Formats: sequence, C-alpha cells, structure tokens
Amino acid sequence: MPITGKITAMKLKLRFLLLMTLIFIGFMLITWYLSLRWMNQVNDAWGQQFSQRQVIFDKYRILLPLIPEIALARKMASDPAIIQMALHDNNPGIRDRGINVLENYRLHFKDHNYFAAIADSGNYYFNDAKNQYQGKELRYVLSPDNPNDSWFYATVKDDKDFQINVNPDVHLNVTKVWINVLVRSRGKILGVVGTGINLKHFLKESVSVSRHGIHNLIIDKDMAIQLDTDPALIDYMSVAKSASQHIKVGILLKNQNDIRKLQLAMKYLEKNPNKIETFWVDYAGTKHLLGVAYLPEIGWYDLTFMDVHNVMLIEHNMFMPFILGVTFLIALIIMAQALHRWVMKPISALQISSDRIQQGDFNFVPRVQGAGEIRMLAESFSRMAKYVNDTNHELENKVRERTDELQHLTEIDPLTGLLNRRGMTDRLDKEIARHARQGSSFGLLLLDIDYFKRINDNYGHAAGDLALCEVAVIIQSLKREYDYAARWGGDEFLILLPDCDRLNLLAISKRIHDGIGGREIRAVLQSFFITVSIGAHYSDSTQTLDEMLQKVDEALYAAKDGGRDQVHFSASS
Ligand code: GH3
Ligand code: MG
Repeated sequence: MPITGKITAMKLKLRFLLLMTLIFIGFMLITWYLSLRWMNQVNDAWGQQFSQRQVIFDKYRILLPLIPEIALARKMASDPAIIQMALHDNNPGIRDRGINVLENYRLHFKDHNYFAAIADSGNYYFNDAKNQYQGKELRYVLSPDNPNDSWFYATVKDDKDFQINVNPDVHLNVTKVWINVLVRSRGKILGVVGTGINLKHFLKESVSVSRHGIHNLIIDKDMAIQLDTDPALIDYMSVAKSASQHIKVGILLKNQNDIRKLQLAMKYLEKNPNKIETFWVDYAGTKHLLGVAYLPEIGWYDLTFMDVHNVMLIEHNMFMPFILGVTFLIALIIMAQALHRWVMKPISALQISSDRIQQGDFNFVPRVQGAGEIRMLAESFSRMAKYVNDTNHELENKVRERTDELQHLTEIDPLTGLLNRRGMTDRLDKEIARHARQGSSFGLLLLDIDYFKRINDNYGHAAGDLALCEVAVIIQSLKREYDYAARWGGDEFLILLPDCDRLNLLAISKRIHDGIGGREIRAVLQSFFITVSIGAHYSDSTQTLDEMLQKVDEALYAAKDGGRDQVHFSASS
C-alpha cells in the first residue's frame, strides 16, 4: 500500500510539472505574441505621430523663407511701373522708372537680388546684393535657341502665376532657387520677374538640417526632385525639361508599389492640403516611414523619410518577453516549491501516517505539517487517527468483556447463579491437576433435596425454583470463600472443597446440612421446610474425576437409602 501512495504522489508531481511546463510555454507564446503586437501598435502609432510632426515641421521650414519672397515677388510683378516697363522697355524713361522700382524691391528681397525678363524684347535685367550691375542692369538678351534660357520660355508657356525653379545661372555661375512670377496685362503675358535665393543657403536652412535617420526632400507634381541635401539628385531646370528628362523620386524608391502609394498620397493631398500622409516604404535598403505633405503655396510636395529605428519607440527584440518569461519561470518555481512544502510534503506525511495506522500501529502519532487548509486536514486526520485508536481500544475492551460475559454465562446456572455442571467440571479438572501436582487433598459434597418432586407438586413449580435458589444462597453463605458450589442438575448440588481435611469435610457438610434443614422457605402462598441428603467424599490420593464422582454419588445414594436428611461419607472418607 505505501508503494501505491508514493506512486500517486509521484504522479501528482509529474502531472503538476507537466501542467506547469504547458502553462509556461503557453504564457511565453502569448506574451511573445502580445508584446510583438503591442510593440508594433505602439511603434506604428508613435511612428505616425512622429512623422506627422516631422513633416509639418519640414513643410513650414521650407515654406517659411519662401512665402515672404513669393509674396514680395508677386507684389513686384503687379506693380504698374513694372507692367509699364514690360510693355515699353525700349522707352528709356519708362525703363528707368521700372529699374528704380526693381531696385527698391531688391533691397527688400532676402538675397537682395531681382531679375526681370521681358517677353517682347527678350531683355534680361538683373542686379544683386553687391549692386555690382548698377547702371548695367540689362545683362543680356534671351534667345529661344539658347538652352540656358529655356526656363523663361517654359515658364511663359506654363502660364502659371508663379513657379519655383532650381536652376544654375550659367551667366552668373550660381545655382539659385528662383521664384518666377508672370507679369500680365489684360490677359497677356509680358514677362517673368522675381528673385533668386542662393541654393546652398536655402538648403542649409531647409532640407539639409542634419538629423540622424531622417532624410528630407522636395518633389514637384511630376515627382521630380526639386530640393535635396545631395545636389546631384536635384532636377535642375525642371520646368524646362520633358517628362523623361526629370530626376525623379523613383531613383530613391525602388519598389513600384511604394511609388504607387506615393502617387495616391499626392493625389489625396492635393485635395486635402492640410493633411499629412504616412506609410511604410523600402528606402535605401531598409524600412522607412515616409511622411508626405503638400505645399500648396509652391505646388511642391515635402517628403520625409524616417528610418524605422528612428521612429521606433520600442525596439523589436526579445528583451521584454524574455524578462517576462524569466519572471514567470521564477514565479512557477516558487509556486512549485510552495506547493511541495505546503501541500505535497504534508500529504506525503499524512500518507505515511495512514500507512502506519493501516498496518495497525495505533501508537503512532501522526505529525501535523503544513499550513491553512492542509494543516486543518492534517489535524483532522490526527483527530481521526486518535478516534480510530480510542475506538479500537474501546472495542477491544468491549469484546473482551463480552467474551468474559459469554464465558461466564456458559459456566453459570441461570436460576441459582451458582456454577453449572460445565463450570464445575472445569474447576474439578483444575483441582485434580493441582492435587496431582502438589499432593494436596480436597473434598466433594453431593447434595440432593429430599422429596423435591413433592414440593413442586404441592406448592407449584415456582415454589420449587424458590427452594432451589434458597438452597444455593445457603450453600454460598456457609461454604468457605475459596470453595466452589455448582448446581449439578435438577435438585442436585456439588460442592468442591479444596485444601480440605476430613475434619473440615465433616464440619462443612454438617453446617450446610443443618443450615438448609433449619431454613423456612417462604413461598407466595405457603411456607415450608426442606431437608437435604449429602454424600461426602474426601480424596488425598490420585483418583480420576469419574472415580471421585462415583464415590460421592454412592455416598449420596447411601444417605438417601439411609432415610434421607443426613450426611453420608464415602468409605475412604
Ligand atoms: P428423592 O428424595 O429421592 O430425591 O426424591 P425426589 O422427589 O427429590 O426425587 P428426584 O430427586 O429424582 O426429583 C427431582 C425432581 O426435581 C424432578 C423434577 O421434577 C424436579 N426438578 C428438576 N429440575 C427442576 C427445576 O428446575 N425446578 C423445579 N421446580 N423442579 C425441578
Ligand atoms: Mg431429590
């Protein structure tokens, strides 16, 4: 049985271990999955937020220096003196007035330069911050055949109020961000005026503010790159180029799908210029978040590429699930230890106690271990063990008592309470054995009520019983303490007198004979006297029980024969 107990405990441990492993694996998988999902969600949300802010920031950083310049250039283009000059620049007075006005604007432009290209004459006027062309403002004459002048004809053809064009000025040997504004009068385009901002300075202020992991550039509606930190990527003189000649953002975005996404975003933003679009793209071989904003003021799009690592709030590594996993594992181990200490060990102790008790070791006191419910169980078990132990003892005592009682009942005559024939035979056997062992002597008295039948007949059976009981009481009171008296059968009594000599035999038999003879039996209706005949036998030599019984019987017979109411001794007595 204890082996089965251990197996059960082992199985329980194993099962628990298995369960814990399963829980652990499940927990790890769920944690890993959830943390990944959560990290992605957080990163996505954070990336969108980050990129939107970044794009808004970039958008205004680019727009801010351009807007006042554009406004000023447009004001200049609508100035009556400039319109007049564009109409009649062959008139020296009108032309000089116009140049004066241009000079005035020059001082207000950021880079303190202006240009004015007149459509009719093809005259190109220019002065710069150093005022080095004072008096020589007419720099040269534009020609449709000169590719360097193609910007002018393209701008006029485009018929847009204003345009921004990044273009190297070969005559001046500088690259500038040109703000080109059409001069109109009565629906006719008279020329293009504006100012140029030094590209290097502009780039420094706008796109090339260096920020790690962030690349900012500007494209036009045809996706041609207008501004970029890398001057080689800029699609110079974009306005004068055909679609196939542009340097497009496609050289940065290799994935056709990303280009499609960008096209869609651009279309959407044109209609919703205040919105920002963000999406993931493949850029420079890694995953980047691309933020797109529309700059309606100049018709360009601001693109901000953000390295995935830059916009990731939480790095995608196994650190968190690992920490969680280790924490959970430690928790499981502690739990297993606690379970072992608080449950398994006390249960095992109970198991041992139970086995010991089953084996009948009732003196074993179960050790109470554990805490809480387990302790209560152990205490309850302990109480139960004690109860079983006590009950067992009690039961054993009761069985012993009952056995004794039964034993007693089998040896006692129910009417008189004296030994019955069986009880007396047992005492006789023992006495004969003792006699044989020690050589002691003993006496036997066989007593029979005289004419007992008549008592029954005359006074009733109950009176007969009463007489029998009275005789028994008298014998009990007159025999010595260690003598045995039995109802031998019917109205016969046998008395065994251990350690008895002839004198004792005589005295006791006489005492009993006289005691009975002188006692009045008080029955319900009548009183009467009875007499008894006694056969006495004394034994000091080795005799069998039968021989002795025969002797005493013969003596009784002789007493009866001798007229009853007397004691007759056997011959040897
Ligand atoms: P004797 O002097 O020769 O002994 O004559 P007796 O009438 O006593 O004859 P015996 O001893 O043979 O009679 C025994 C009678 O005892 C027979 C039976 O009816 C009666 N008897 C036996 N057992 C009981 C008993 O338990 N109660 C009563 N009332 N009578 C009993
Ligand atoms: Mg009789």
